[in-house]
Amino acid sequence: MRAAILETPGTALKIEEIPIPDPKPGEVLVRITACGVCHTDLHVIKNEVAFPTPAVLGHEISGTVEALGPGVEWPAAGTPVVASFIMPCGACEYCARGRDDVCERFFALNRFKGVLYDGNTRLFRRDGSPLWMYSMAELAEYAVVPATDVFPLPESLPPEESPILGCAVFTAYGAVRHAADLRAGERVAVVALGGVGSNIVQIANGFGASQIIAVDIVPEKLDAAQRFGATDIVTAPRGTP
Ligand SMILES: [Zn+2]
Ligand SMILES: [Zn+2]
Repeated sequence: MRAAILETPGTALKIEEIPIPDPKPGEVLVRITACGVCHTDLHVIKNEVAFPTPAVLGHEISGTVEALGPGVEWPAAGTPVVASFIMPCGACEYCARGRDDVCERFFALNRFKGVLYDGNTRLFRRDGSPLWMYSMAELAEYAVVPATDVFPLPESLPPEESPILGCAVFTAYGAVRHAADLRAGERVAVVALGGVGSNIVQIANGFGASQIIAVDIVPEKLDAAQRFGATDIVTAPRGTP
């Protein structure tokens, strides 16, 4: 398969042919339909976030189930799916408490070492040398994803637009639902309308916020925020906090 490889930070990604990975027990092989490029990927490329290289980045995914690893019975091959960038191990103390957003093994193994939960990567070059995985490493034609992180995509959602469900959208949902605990009729201000902020506007609207004040420096983002449900917009002057 083809994969986009970051050889070292500060260099351009290069497309290379590498073997299709095998899903191990508890994992799913997903054939990628679409992948997002997130600012976090750019942080890694620019060496603003430390990550081992050579690596395959990409953590916003839509695709179809290609194969199931041993012990995995669902979703069936061919099912359209998405995945979240935090891949919960399902077994640590935090996952057991329902706090899979702070899964201990995800951060210790994947985020710091680029491996999955048996301590190994699934990606190798043709010469057998390892490639480290940023989340499921989906800037490639196939990705191995822990089954705890694979979710069927409703038919009503277009696969090309759905990868952000696993990053900007679920981060925004967590902010509105869990951090702010927003209730119908409450007021909310959203400062900065990037991927997360613009989704906070939509979700706050869905939760019934009575007033949604959107703040940004870019007029196009403020226009979009109004379409997403912002009731008031504030154009912040550049350079002013
Ligand atoms: Zn992201
Ligand atoms: Zn966990």
